[in-house]
Amino acid sequence: MFSSEPGFIRLAIFIAGLLIFLLLEIWIPYRGSTVSKWKRWVINLSFSAFNSVILALVFASAIVQTSLYVTANNLGVLNMIAMPYWLKTLATVVIMDFLLYVWHLLTHVMPFLWRFHRVHHSDLNMDVSTATRFHIGELAISAVIKVSLIFFLGADLLGVLLFESLLVCCAQFHHSSLNVPRWFEKYFWVLFVPPSMHRIHHSVIIKERNTNYGTIFSLWDRLLGTLLANVDQSRIRIGVGAYPQPDKLNFFHLLTMPFTRPVK
Ligand SMILES: [Zn+2]
Repeated sequence: MFSSEPGFIRLAIFIAGLLIFLLLEIWIPYRGSTVSKWKRWVINLSFSAFNSVILALVFASAIVQTSLYVTANNLGVLNMIAMPYWLKTLATVVIMDFLLYVWHLLTHVMPFLWRFHRVHHSDLNMDVSTATRFHIGELAISAVIKVSLIFFLGADLLGVLLFESLLVCCAQFHHSSLNVPRWFEKYFWVLFVPPSMHRIHHSVIIKERNTNYGTIFSLWDRLLGTLLANVDQSRIRIGVGAYPQPDKLNFFHLLTMPFTRPVK
């Protein structure tokens, strides 16, 4: 989205979030690193830069232009129903988050999509930088689905931008290695996804990994029976069991990972 104003807003939120959560990770860390944080950050931020350039060149204007087009022509489901503007914006955020939940679930249960999504899960520690570690193949497929959903919904630019901004902030927060106060987690978990909930999702244990798919709202996991809460957080090991060696997880290996042997 860099080619347009919404792109700069999203980028500014991303950089601000990265710095804020990095400072918080230094101030109230959850636990120390088991592999080189420096190397992980270089890899994860390389993915971020690489993906951002491709998304900006190929998909950003498609997302913005589709949203402007459906709004100008009054197209889409949300434009067929009379409702206040704030409700339409809220509906856009909620529905797009639900689709993201479904998409995330599919990346775990469909072997073809897991080939791409395992790049994200192969991070051996989890912190704010993990939120940017995605294979471009996964992001490209989800961008096509996102454009289709914006068209179907008739989502306007404010709704899409609000969703994208919340998505960035929530993903950065729940990937952060933060020792969040228990009382905060307890209330936050009711509606949203705290780090402890997403930490279970990054467990090497497949049964635990295939739970807690939510990004913004925890509601979908609660409603559809994929929520897992009662796990001893101190024994969670992060990563994919088949990829335990940090030196085999460099940028090139991760870029080619979807096209190598299938792993669970
Ligand atoms: Zn996942």
